[in-house]
Amino acid sequence: MPNGHVIRGARVGSAPPRPPERHQPVPCRSVSYWCRNGHRTDIRIVADVAAPSVWDCPRCGLPAGQDAQDPPGRTRAEPYKTHLAYVKERRTDAEGEAILAEALAALRQRRGGRS
Ligand SMILES: [Zn+2]
Repeated sequence: MPNGHVIRGARVGSAPPRPPERHQPVPCRSVSYWCRNGHRTDIRIVADVAAPSVWDCPRCGLPAGQDAQDPPGRTRAEPYKTHLAYVKERRTDAEGEAILAEALAALRQRRGGRS
């Protein structure tokens, strides 16, 4: 323990400020993570703290998960879609027009009828 953090006013020989149990090493458990490149990472984590679901692989930087068979960050089967593409999937063009018109009307109302 660094000496610079001694609490002022603590006297030598006085009762310890904390019970001695607190000076024992914190119980830890080992958690293993696998990234999709097959790197295994073991981390020590305090026993009563939940392990993070994802840990960055220190070797390649990819996210690593606790399931060796199903590491995170796998390229998805479906191609990347823009947000607009998802919106268009859910709504027809007509619905989109109606929503847009409604939004514009509300906007104009808020602006006091200008433009
Ligand atoms: Zn890795």
